[in-house]
Amino acid sequence: MSEFKFEAWPTQFLSINQHFGANPQNYAQFNLPGHDGVDIMAPTGSKIFAVADGLVSRVRTDPKGHNYGIHIRINHEDDYQTIYAHLQEVRVREGQQVEAGQLIGLADNTGNSFGSHLHLSLKRLNHNYKNWPYCFFDPTPFLLPLLGWQRPSGPYIDGWAYTAAITRVDDLAQANAGGINLRKTASIGGKLIDLVPGGSLMIVMGRERNGYTPVQVPIASLSNVPDPEPPPPPPPTELAGIFLGGSFEVGFW
Ligand SMILES: [Zn+2]
Repeated sequence: MSEFKFEAWPTQFLSINQHFGANPQNYAQFNLPGHDGVDIMAPTGSKIFAVADGLVSRVRTDPKGHNYGIHIRINHEDDYQTIYAHLQEVRVREGQQVEAGQLIGLADNTGNSFGSHLHLSLKRLNHNYKNWPYCFFDPTPFLLPLLGWQRPSGPYIDGWAYTAAITRVDDLAQANAGGINLRKTASIGGKLIDLVPGGSLMIVMGRERNGYTPVQVPIASLSNVPDPEPPPPPPPTELAGIFLGGSFEVGFW
């Protein structure tokens, strides 16, 4: 077993805009099963940090000619490699040793990208992950501990959360600042269950519908516990990558 882990969040914003494996329809043209990394909020000129100690193996400073635009590759222990794409500026050079949390560049929108963000890819060289080519691995399990999230305990209440108002990683999500209105149905006209305060954690129960995500919220997080009533019909159980809105690129490796 590898001991490798991410020690630092790679941007100044704890928000994920597009998940690993999302939007397969955009990536089939590249023979990829979906989005080949994780897109993380990073406005133009904001700081990008190395997620772990490593050696800078490649730096590309030409914004043209590669889908990743200006980007950095860092080799870590146990054959892991991280890629930081769509940058404005690089602050390291090839062959340089870097530490977790070290400033390595600034964010932007170079390469095949719409809107400034960080595209973070994880590879494990000479290894294969599920049906993925080019040694791509899912970085999500490495990012999740850095969010400091722990699965909330019940009892829960089921409802629908406006997808753009939550930050999701795998089957957990957090209400963004300002909180969310938890609704009975996937619609702005859906009956309001209660306000869930910003920062509250919830469990994602299925696929997004109509801009809303089915969630289970701990009753302890609600400001007004509703009266008991018959349970609503179960939400769809199929899990899938969900594009949460915001910036992303069309794709490639
Ligand atoms: Zn991306």
